[in-house]
Amino acid sequence: MHDFIDKFLLESKKNTHITQNIDGFHYSKRLSSQIFELHGSVGSAHCLNCKTVYDPDFFFKNHVQSTGSCLCPNCKAGLVKVSTISFGQKLDEEILRKSFLAASRCDVLICMGTSLMVSPANSIPKISRKSNSKVVILNKEATPFDNEADLVINGDLEKIYEKIK
Ligand SMILES: [Zn+2]
Repeated sequence: MHDFIDKFLLESKKNTHITQNIDGFHYSKRLSSQIFELHGSVGSAHCLNCKTVYDPDFFFKNHVQSTGSCLCPNCKAGLVKVSTISFGQKLDEEILRKSFLAASRCDVLICMGTSLMVSPANSIPKISRKSNSKVVILNKEATPFDNEADLVINGDLEKIYEKIK
């Protein structure tokens, strides 16, 4: 499976969307991009023991409300938790690896709405730059990476988007 994903990333010119958002708002039928959610998503839940994935709404309505328990019905040993990364919890290494690989293979990296202050996501533009990709930063304020970027536009993202779409 990893080989297939790596091959896809190496050969595809498809858009890749790497996000620290957990709200799932970046999902759109208009986007054909693959999405790597570094901090997880509220759109799914999983068992901390056996890793079984659940729809959070379905699990709450059909399990938590009737049993009063967040215990996994599959393994009966782990708690089911919404699939977001909590403070102090490690990021998913596979998602991080795929994100870094995509960053090293892109033609253009566009960093939108990020201060580039939070590690390890802030190493993504460095990886792209090392791979001779163009780096564009669109953010309200300056970032520590601005001097190395090919293009920096500071301003309100909605206004920037209106001008470039
Ligand atoms: Zn389980």
